[in-house]
Amino acid sequence: MGRTVLMGTPVSGGVAMGVVRYLDVDYDSFIKEYIPTDKDGELARFVLALKNAKADLDEILSEGEKLSAEEEDIIDMHLMLLDDVGFIEAIKRRIKEGLGTPASIQKAVADFKNMFEGMDDEYLRDRANDVVDVGNRVLRKLLGMPETKVEGENLVIVAKDVEPALMAGFSEDKVKAVVLENGSKTSHSVIIAKSKGFVTLVGVDVSKASESDGCTALVDAKDGSVVISPDKGEEDAFAKKCEEYEKEAGYLASRAGDPAVSLDGRRIKVAANVAGPDEMGKAAQMGCEGVGLYRTEFLFMDSEDLPDEEKQTAAYRALLAKAGGNLCIIRTLDIGGDKKCRCLDLMPEENPFLGYRAVRICLDKKDMFKTQLRSLIKASAFGKLGIMIPMIDTVTEIKEAKALFEEAKKELRGEGVAFDEEILFGIMTETPASVMMAADFAKYVDFFSIGTNDLVQYTMAVDRGNGLVAYLYDYFDPAVVRAIYTIAKAGKDAGIMVGMCGEMAGDVLAAPLLMAMGLDELSMSPSVAPEVKERIRTCRSDDVDLDKVLSFETAKDVREYLEGLLNKGTC
Ligand code: PEP
Ligand code: MG
Repeated sequence: MGRTVLMGTPVSGGVAMGVVRYLDVDYDSFIKEYIPTDKDGELARFVLALKNAKADLDEILSEGEKLSAEEEDIIDMHLMLLDDVGFIEAIKRRIKEGLGTPASIQKAVADFKNMFEGMDDEYLRDRANDVVDVGNRVLRKLLGMPETKVEGENLVIVAKDVEPALMAGFSEDKVKAVVLENGSKTSHSVIIAKSKGFVTLVGVDVSKASESDGCTALVDAKDGSVVISPDKGEEDAFAKKCEEYEKEAGYLASRAGDPAVSLDGRRIKVAANVAGPDEMGKAAQMGCEGVGLYRTEFLFMDSEDLPDEEKQTAAYRALLAKAGGNLCIIRTLDIGGDKKCRCLDLMPEENPFLGYRAVRICLDKKDMFKTQLRSLIKASAFGKLGIMIPMIDTVTEIKEAKALFEEAKKELRGEGVAFDEEILFGIMTETPASVMMAADFAKYVDFFSIGTNDLVQYTMAVDRGNGLVAYLYDYFDPAVVRAIYTIAKAGKDAGIMVGMCGEMAGDVLAAPLLMAMGLDELSMSPSVAPEVKERIRTCRSDDVDLDKVLSFETAKDVREYLEGLLNKGTC
């Protein structure tokens, strides 16, 4: 493909150079189009898909010199799985029972994945991802989907969309950048991309790059450009830019462990937003002090069946154990909206973000919620835990959730299970109702965490994933800034902790404003923590004239004021 320049909206800072992997991975639409035959025909199709999947892997192995020893091991492991009688028979049995072939593969993969995840041995636990990769390869063969290799190094993923679970599986060692057509700064796959440190752009017309697989790409998340097949001079100049960026990142990383204390001595806790315990190593390395948001829905999204108490307790315990005694705020299930979950079988809705979501589901499916609460309480024996309920709209919801929390504790006491009696109980403030009711809500909880991703969406009545109305989606809009102030003030007046875990918390421009509003904790993708910490260290907590900012009438005014402070070096 010849030199092509695409433009998009930057999500994370940084620059990256790599090889394009153009992905066309929309399993659901291929499954919808799949026309089944009779059972014998389906069995034959499955056997053929298996054979073709093996042939793919054999071909990759035959190009041995391009593979690292580790990659060779992984492919050997995948070939072994494709020969595993138990795995193959589990799929065939379901096909014979009349479950469609794609669903039979997905079900067997989910069962095997769960089995591996439940193993004590860490090596075997890690094999759960291999099962998913192998199952997907067979599925692609069955459905006749184009094969895109995500193998290789220095990859720039270019795709219309990447579902959150797939994004979560991309390795930080291999992927450098992600260029998407759909998705917004706060869609969930994009949040994952950011947390993995991928240089990320959204809103890019990727149809112009459909022939770019294997080409070199220069991705610049400062100006939002992607250059595919650059000329030599351009590539050399960009390599220098990457070097400088790495140097700057290295400097920030070297200071990441220092606390975020402003010039006048205000200490702000910088915590991590994570999707699971695996991310704790990176969070610590980036200087995060504990966790301000663990999105537990990823435990549920990965799984065909609802995760049981044992599985959930193990995940929460692993997180707490890795936090070195720092507070970990674990959010209860926030499924719905753009986060789908096979194990819950949710009905499609006209307006999913305004529908059956988060605490509304939990208070409806009380057994499921209780299992999560029990798991959390059990895990609390291994660290400092805060439980956080998302999407709270009413005092009644808080009371009901709290009553179930107390009930779960009582049960566990009765069962003689040891746990921490000082678990913090808090809520996300992310709806206009929570702004209006903040002073009342504060009477019932230990902390607020401001979820700006949804607060912007609901305050401005603008779908957080819809590019057409993205111009209205701005956390610097005065309506949102005033909403944040109202929540922060209500929390501070009541003497409870106020944090923020929406994407605004990781924006260096916002840091002095949030500090001026008295926030105690900012929780963010670990990759941006060193930069935010450094910004706080160069500010005074009273640098921002709050009355002035609260009087602004446009987002532009707010932004320009904060940019002005930055450029003047006032903070
Ligand atoms: C938020 O809404 O700001 C938030 C952190 O939650 P999520 O992005 O998972 O909806
Ligand atoms: Mg939210």
